[in-house]
Amino acid sequence: MGRYYLLGHPLGHSLSRPLHRGLFGALGVKAEYSLMDTPAPELAKAVALLRERADGFNVTIPYKESILPFLDEIHPSAALFGAVNTVAVRDGRLFGYNTDADGFALALGHYGIECAGRRAAVLGAGGAARMMAAQLSRMGADVDIAARDTQKALRLSKDLVRRGLEREPGAVHISALSGGYNLIFNGTPVGMYPDTGESPVTEQALAGADTVFDTIYNPLKTQLLRMADARGLKTANGLVMLAAQAAAAQELWTGMRHRRKDILDACGPLAAALALSRRNLVLCGMPGSGKTTLGRRLADALGFDFFDVDEIIEKRHGMSVSELFEGRGEEYFRKEERAEALRLAGRERAVIATGGGTLLNPQSAAALKKNALVVFLDVPLRILTERLRTDQSRPLLAGGDLEKRLAALWQSRRPAYLAAADIRLCGYILDEQCKRLYKAITDRGL
Ligand code: NAP
Repeated sequence: MGRYYLLGHPLGHSLSRPLHRGLFGALGVKAEYSLMDTPAPELAKAVALLRERADGFNVTIPYKESILPFLDEIHPSAALFGAVNTVAVRDGRLFGYNTDADGFALALGHYGIECAGRRAAVLGAGGAARMMAAQLSRMGADVDIAARDTQKALRLSKDLVRRGLEREPGAVHISALSGGYNLIFNGTPVGMYPDTGESPVTEQALAGADTVFDTIYNPLKTQLLRMADARGLKTANGLVMLAAQAAAAQELWTGMRHRRKDILDACGPLAAALALSRRNLVLCGMPGSGKTTLGRRLADALGFDFFDVDEIIEKRHGMSVSELFEGRGEEYFRKEERAEALRLAGRERAVIATGGGTLLNPQSAAALKKNALVVFLDVPLRILTERLRTDQSRPLLAGGDLEKRLAALWQSRRPAYLAAADIRLCGYILDEQCKRLYKAITDRGL
């Protein structure tokens, strides 16, 4: 099992873990990806540990530059960008790379952004701006770096040339931008969550532009992209770039190639996790509709915690739902179910698989819905019957004619599920369900 890490501080709810898990899964590689949230005074100790323990690691803010002295070798691209975001550990030696440029290049291709012979303004003079200015210039664009400190932009431009870039980018003050660029690339954090109302430039700067690319992905639509959308320009956020730089890192670690489709598929759960923000996802539906299986899969992909109401109650009592029904009666179980629902309603970033009866209780339904998107897994009766034919664990379906009992339960409960749901998810094939759900969540916007 490969061991990989993300080194940075603070890491909070980093998307990297679910992203890398998903991408490793697409490669069929067994690997663990863990967060190593490291305050600055502990950096040296953390790197020593990684040298010993890791097969590779990513580096993020604020260590993309300060990691350089710890490395044994630095790839020429990372040297050009003056920053490392990926380290491969081979025989105890640390090899530094920068895969942000690979991610950026793939994103440009994905969105069909042509650069050769076009005028491009890169906003900011930090790591992302440096990478984009170098990459765009190498692709034949005529680049200006637009920063709030023109001298810094100028120094960056000179430094890129000193490190081997052939065409020297221009340097301008960001507030002086008043149009005339075909392409605008935002490499500043302005507009990032929680300051989502801000834009690094005014409308005027977009005059004459046909494309705006924002490296920010939280929110998916920044104020800058909204402004560009309103003008009918082509827009792209940083999500594909994020997924593609992670895929490129894995390729360096494993020597295996990712399919472009897998990289784009990996964006689905990330976009959904961002669109959900701090909210929960509550799954409801009939017994056998796959709430637990789908719930676990979703929680993994979104990077959320997973809770199953029935499982929690079973664990607490050390007996199955059927045994509880038999020993303590349905009323007792429903009381426990309601108490658990009220407890779980207070969580954030959780996928909650409800029991078949949880949302039938108005108090539970109201509490869970307050801070959640409720998804009804509307699986056809025919499929439910097939799935439950050999299942003895459902007390309300035990004994008698399964088909009849199930049909009666379906008839009586489905209206309540439909009433509670924000999204009705049809179909029953797991991969398809996930993809449709990610899209449905993302389409609702942030
Ligand atoms: P960085 O090295 O700290 O650089 C940020 C730059 O933005 C600096 O030049 C800074 O100016 C400038 N800036 C900050 N606030 C500004 C403001 N109010 N007006 C004008 N300029 C401002 O950060 P970074 O690593 O380049 O990251 C920048 C952004 O790119 C972040 O939002 C990050 O999430 C995003 N990013 C995305 C990906 C991806 O895969 N999608 C990858 C890398 C980065 P000063 O130099 O004057 O301080």
